[in-house]
Order: sequence, then structure tokens, then C-alpha cells
Amino acid sequence: MRVAYKRKLLILFILTFLVVMAFSPRGYTASLFSSLELSLEKNIGQNCYQSIIDQKKVVHLPEEETEHLNAIFKSLVNCCGRKQELEFSLTVVEDETVNAFALPAGYIFVHTGLLSYVQSDGELAGVLAHEIAHVDRKHSMNAIKRQLGMSLLLQLILNKKKSKEGLAKVGNVAINMTQLGYGREAEYEADHYGVYFMEGAGYQREEILNFWRRIVDQRGGQEDLVILQLFSTHPPTSERIKRIEGLR
Ligand SMILES: [Zn+2]
Repeated sequence: MRVAYKRKLLILFILTFLVVMAFSPRGYTASLFSSLELSLEKNIGQNCYQSIIDQKKVVHLPEEETEHLNAIFKSLVNCCGRKQELEFSLTVVEDETVNAFALPAGYIFVHTGLLSYVQSDGELAGVLAHEIAHVDRKHSMNAIKRQLGMSLLLQLILNKKKSKEGLAKVGNVAINMTQLGYGREAEYEADHYGVYFMEGAGYQREEILNFWRRIVDQRGGQEDLVILQLFSTHPPTSERIKRIEGLR
């Protein structure tokens, strides 16, 4: 009885929300919805961040290195469109694989394996800029909408009591994305924006191209296949290089 009542109440709530949206001036509705969606994105990001740091070993680098890394990161974040509405953060975790990944709302992670693989600040900036671009273009949130549907997101926004269970479900999708990639088009888009962010921060696109070319060379030589495995979920590296070279 109680569950049925709650369900009815929720449906009524959603219907009221939709009616309010339908009859409100367009700009107002859009901004109301995007602010609700933004706060949900922050909740999801925070939840995922917590579960990653529960599983992985966070590395605290010496102060000077941390400052240097943060300076690179900040200069890139400053070039992205969502710098005002999100608090981007960078966390180093112990992992031999050459990788970095992003969670919703701007939580970026970098593996120690990537830090020792890059040969310059510009190469590192290129990889970080790619991850910042995933957040800037809302790739994770778009994938969540596609996979779980808007109705679950609406429920999460409107029904706080169920939100723990729902957030965990949504969080799994977001974390899976970090392993599987966001799909070919989203990866190309992140490359594209990433190049603009790195150039905006004063680095040359040649540096991220060098990074990718080195990966192609090593793959050709069958070296470090395991270490570079995670990047294999991205689109073909040679195609990415071609597209970055073709950007204006
Ligand atoms: Zn990516």
C-alpha cells in the first residue's frame, strides 16, 4: 500500500514537473533544468570519485611536483567552457598503465604510469586536456542519459529517497565509461577540444602528436602492449593522429 502510494506521489511529482516545464517561459525552464542536471552531475561525480579512491592508492607527490602538475592542470582548465560551474580536480593514483580518465563534474585521474611515460609537460598537458574535454563536452552525462534514459535521471532529481540506489547505478555507468571509452565520435571530439585547450594554455599540438606517434611505434614493435592496453579502447591511434593533424 505504502509503496503504491509513494509511486503515485512520484508520478504526480514528475507530471507536475513536466507541466511546469511545458508552461514556463522557455529560457526559464531550460535554466531550471540545467541547474538541476548540474547538481545531479556533481552528486554523481562525487560518488564515483569516492568509490575510485576507496579502490585505488592515491599518490601524494613531493610538494614541488604537485605544484608543477597543478599549474599545468589549471592552465588547461582555464581554457575550458565549464570552468565557472565546476571545480576541476586532479588526483594521481598508483597504476603502471599509461592512462588518465575523467569522471562527471571534473574529477580527473592520472596514473603514475602516464607520468613516467610522458617526455614533456606538453605531452602530459595533451592527455589531461583530452580528459578535461570529456567533462567539458558532458560525454559521461550524455552516455548516462543514453544508457539509462531520462526518466531515471528525472527520478533522481525529484526523488531524493531513492537517490542512493539510483546514484550507485548511474555511477557504475560513469565508471564503466572510464574503462571502455565514450565511443568513437566522443573520443574524436575530446581530441579536437583537447588540442584547443592545450594550445590555449601555451603548448604545441605537436607534443600530443609525438605522444601518439610514440605509442603507434611501440605498438608496431609489439612492446609494452600490456602497459598501453587501456588506450586500445580508444579509436585507432593512427586515425586520431590524422584527424589532429587536420585540425585548423
Ligand atoms: Zn578519451
